[in-house]
Amino acid sequence: AAAVSATTGAKVFCVANQKGGVGKTTTTVNLAAGLAKVGQRVLMIDLDPQGNATMGSGVDKRKLKLTVYDVLLESASIAEAKIRSEKCGYDVLGANRELAGAEVELVELEHRDQRLKQAIAAVAAGYDFVLIDCPPSLSMLTLNGLCSAHGVIVPMQCEYFALEGLTDLVNTIKQVHANLNKDLQIIGLLRVMFDPRITLQQQVSDQLKAHFADKVFNTVIPRNVRLAEAPSYGLPGVVFDPAARGSQAYVEFAQEMVERIRKM
Ligand code: ADP
Ligand code: MG
Repeated sequence: AAAVSATTGAKVFCVANQKGGVGKTTTTVNLAAGLAKVGQRVLMIDLDPQGNATMGSGVDKRKLKLTVYDVLLESASIAEAKIRSEKCGYDVLGANRELAGAEVELVELEHRDQRLKQAIAAVAAGYDFVLIDCPPSLSMLTLNGLCSAHGVIVPMQCEYFALEGLTDLVNTIKQVHANLNKDLQIIGLLRVMFDPRITLQQQVSDQLKAHFADKVFNTVIPRNVRLAEAPSYGLPGVVFDPAARGSQAYVEFAQEMVERIRKM
C-alpha cells in the first residue's frame, strides 16, 4: 500500500464549552453518528470522567479494560484501547471515573499537555474525523484536547449570558493557539436546543451572527425530546430515531462539517 503522509490524516475537533449542560456530549455523539452515516471514518474520544459520551455510544464505561486514561498515561495506545460501536458506526475511546485522577497524575509528567496529540498522531491515518468530548472545565484534560485539535466546535444555547461565557473560552483558545498549538482555531459556534418561538433566542442568535459572522454554523439544532431520550438507550439520537427533527439536524451538521474540512 502507498505510504500515507501525516497531513492526509484525520481532522481533529474538540467539542468544548466550559459550561455544563450546554449540549457538548449530545453534539459529539450525534455528530459522530451523523458523520458515520455519510460515510466518514470516525474516532470519538471521551475526555470527560463522567463517561456520558461513552455510555451514549453504547459502550459500558464500567466494563472497560482500557480507557483514555491509560492512553494519557502512556500505558496503552489508542489502537489497543479503542472499541468499535457497531450500532453507531464509529470507534470509541472511552472514559470513566478513573480519568478524574489523570488531572493530578499528569502534573508530574513531561509534555503533559501533548499526550493525547501524540497518541492521536499514531492512528490519524485511519480516520477522517476525530471528535473529542471535553469536560465542563478549562482543565489539563481540556488542554490535552485543545492541544490535539485543528478546531473547536462550541455548542451554545442562545440565552442571555451565552456571549459572556464565551469570552473565557475564546481567550483560552487564543492562548493555546499562541503558545501551544498553531493549528487551533474556533471552527464554529453551533446553536443548540434552539426554540425559534422564543424571541430572546432569536435575538441572541442574531447577535451571534453579527459578532462572529461565518464562525456561526448554518445548521441550527432544535430542542428535540428524542435527542434527550436517546442516551438512556445507549444511543445517539441519530441512531435511536433517525427521523426525529433533532437527528436530521445533526446529519445536516455532519454534512456541513464535511464541507468545512474540504476548505481547511
Ligand atoms: P454537556 O455535555 O455540555 O454537559 P449534554 O449534551 O449532556 O451537555 O446535554 C445536557 C442535557 O440537555 C442532556 O440531558 C441532553 O439530553 C439535553 N439536550 C442536549 N441537546 C438537546 C436538544 N437539542 N434538545 C433537547 N435536549 C437536549
Ligand atoms: Mg458532557
